[in-house]
Amino acid sequence: MTTPVFQPVAPIARRGVMLVLSSPSGAGKSSISRALLDSEAELALSVSVTTRDPRPGEDEAIHYFFRSVPEVEAMAEKGELLEWAKVFENYYGTPRQPVEQALQAGRDVMFDIDWQGNRQLKANAPDDVVSIFILPPSLAELESRLVKRGQDSAEVIAKRMAKAVDEISHWGEYDYCVVNISLEDSIAQVKAILHAERLKRERRIGMAAFVADALAG
Ligand code: 5GP
Repeated sequence: MTTPVFQPVAPIARRGVMLVLSSPSGAGKSSISRALLDSEAELALSVSVTTRDPRPGEDEAIHYFFRSVPEVEAMAEKGELLEWAKVFENYYGTPRQPVEQALQAGRDVMFDIDWQGNRQLKANAPDDVVSIFILPPSLAELESRLVKRGQDSAEVIAKRMAKAVDEISHWGEYDYCVVNISLEDSIAQVKAILHAERLKRERRIGMAAFVADALAG
């Protein structure tokens, strides 16, 4: 009998990770997700639809698909959204088709969505969703980051701070929690989570057949 070889000649098939990142706005989630997309070739970003107006520097189909309320309602009614929620007086939703296509192509998909979206995705795909909550070091630091970002008026910042406390109250619904003190450390931590989750036995659907073949010689 030959000695079994467990080193595959081609990658073993695995189910894609649905990686949810949530945080109060200003906690550094966008910087973390940008860094991940730049360094993880197998990771795609889910681009949401929203009814809010574009901010300076935001582009259609890159940051969001900017749509009217009736358009988003029609998408939800037709089942074209994997999840949707009202956040800050506006609708936000995750288009279904691009996510399903990416997962079928063996890619991981990252979602920048709030706790309501995480709840819906987790309920619909409990085995595939891996969720991470990103906390700011403190509320004072969060407020100072929002002010420095210079994107919002004082009134909007006050609203965002109130919403932040509400968002943070849901941290216990997430699989992992990262406190974003240093951006570099937080990026490394999120990558470590993604890399470990990719290796989970249940996700590696080609593994059982591969090991059985190897043992059978
Ligand atoms: P912003 O307006 O600052 O881009 O996003 C506001 C909030 O909406 C953020 O917490 C963001 O994660 C969340 N969000 C963005 N897209 C979606 C989505 O498709 N679904 C849900 N549930 N939340 C979203």
